[in-house]
Amino acid sequence: MSTSGRPGSDPVSVVIVGAGPAGVTAATLLGQYGVECLVLDRWDDVYPQPRAVHLDDEVYRILARLGIAEEFAAASRPTLGLQLVDRNHRVFAVFDRATERGRHGHPAANMFDQPELEHLMRINLEGQPTVRLRGNVEVTDVAQDGQGRVRVDFTDRSGGEHESVLAHYVLGCDGANSVVRAAIGATMEDLRFEQRWLVLDVTCAGELDQWEGVHQVCDPRRAATYMRIGESRYRWEFRLLDGETASDFASMDAVLPLINPWLEGVSTSRLRLVRAAEYTFRAQIADHWRDRRVFLLGDAAHLTPPFIGQGLCAGLRDAMNLSWKLAGVLAGDLPEAVLDTYQAERKPHARAMIKLAQLIGAAMTRGGRTGDVLRRVVAPRLHRVPGMHARILDSETPALSGSVLVHRRRFARSLAGRLCPNALLGDGRRLDDLAIAGFLLVTRVAPTCQQRQRLFERGTQVLEVDPASELGTWLSKGDSAAALVRPDHTVMRSGRDLAALAEAAPRFGSRFVSL
Ligand SMILES: Cc1cc2nc3c(=O)[nH]c(=O)nc-3n(C[C@H](O)[C@H](O)[C@H](O)COP(=O)(O)OP(=O)(O)OC[C@H]3O[C@@H](n4cnc5c(N)ncnc54)[C@H](O)[C@@H]3O)c2cc1C
Repeated sequence: MSTSGRPGSDPVSVVIVGAGPAGVTAATLLGQYGVECLVLDRWDDVYPQPRAVHLDDEVYRILARLGIAEEFAAASRPTLGLQLVDRNHRVFAVFDRATERGRHGHPAANMFDQPELEHLMRINLEGQPTVRLRGNVEVTDVAQDGQGRVRVDFTDRSGGEHESVLAHYVLGCDGANSVVRAAIGATMEDLRFEQRWLVLDVTCAGELDQWEGVHQVCDPRRAATYMRIGESRYRWEFRLLDGETASDFASMDAVLPLINPWLEGVSTSRLRLVRAAEYTFRAQIADHWRDRRVFLLGDAAHLTPPFIGQGLCAGLRDAMNLSWKLAGVLAGDLPEAVLDTYQAERKPHARAMIKLAQLIGAAMTRGGRTGDVLRRVVAPRLHRVPGMHARILDSETPALSGSVLVHRRRFARSLAGRLCPNALLGDGRRLDDLAIAGFLLVTRVAPTCQQRQRLFERGTQVLEVDPASELGTWLSKGDSAAALVRPDHTVMRSGRDLAALAEAAPRFGSRFVSL
């Protein structure tokens, strides 16, 4: 593929700018559908600084789809949840999470090291014969010719040569300072949150004997977060005060006064400061995520303050949402119009998660009377608020908004837009083990021969479940006899009318080579 896509030769199906978590996830998923991709990144290797440390069970399912569930299980650590503590480290709210496998077949909250996860993703990507990753190149511009081709300009960083490649589609997965975002004229809407934080990674040759979840210190004078992320690895984050910088905390002696409350009885000779870095946490969302054949994913499209550990998660959700639609369009199965559903579904979801992160951030840092009210009154009761309970305690995120691929019924209970549980099927397998990269009809009523034939012709698998089983109960709670589940596990439509569901199934998967 070394010359393909150059001016004068055939365009590459998809060029992905950025080989961070969002870009590599999109590349792997597209590769699984046999789509030819070229991934361009400015570095040869993964970004070495550990940023993300948490992901939830919904996103774990995406890692499983990539094929790295076992490797991630070996490299990560389930955690207990989140507790809010006051400045004297007295707990005033706890949001427990189960460490055993839940509704999605994985622990609800998992701690990990981002560079380690990215290494796993990159090694796994090598198994995709239609995907090529080219490092050490700086993408400088992206331009559409109005005739279905996109030109991506880049500079080879070793020799300094300027090169171009043509693509049918371009995915901008190039992070917070996205060149692709600028090229499509998208701007970030500022959701009015900006704070400077100190991020400390420390190893300890021994136990700190702390509650094994995330500790959020709600103190407007110095908000902080503590969590264990590995066998011997710990993360602290402290809000920086005016005039302070990370260089003030470059040694163990300098950070000890900050981390002392967690070190009771631990000899400081057992601790090693791995790094002290400064980050500015922001809440922003791009005004548009698509211009014709160019899309934005991950941090290029949204920035989430890390208080609920959802930034990287959002990028993986973007990739999962878009990749099958793009593969379907490229294969000629789906009309191009379905690509509009990407922003329609993902943007409200990303915005809701950013707002939730801001709410937790406000409880941790807001001063004055408003801050006191938030902490003393609102926070302990968050779990009683419908929706909030689900979002904090259960890790279930909001349903996707309605689109031509999410049929939500007004004023009616519906499963549409929600993830189908990765339930146990009785034979030891789970739903996701059925290798469903296509559509699936989950039903507690047997389809007629005619309905079966129609579904078969469109490439939709049928899973009949016992009404008393986990999936049977899930269907009846959703007032449904059946649910049509998309390749990204999202329910497209549910209801009692099996004929209507069979009719709604789009043709998908007719030409994919490696499902
Ligand atoms: C302190 C901190 C803690 C965090 N904690 C969490 C957490 O617990 N959970 C969570 O889910 N998220 C967390 N996040 C957020 C998470 O790290 C990011 O959301 C995630 O890395 C974004 O992934 P991405 O692939 O969109 O972008 P990036 O990881 O930024 O990757 C972008 C890639 O594009 C490449 N690139 C950029 N521009 C160009 C160009 N012009 N040419 C070629 N290549 C280019 C870069 O080299 C890079 O490889 C945290 C972030 C911080 C800072």
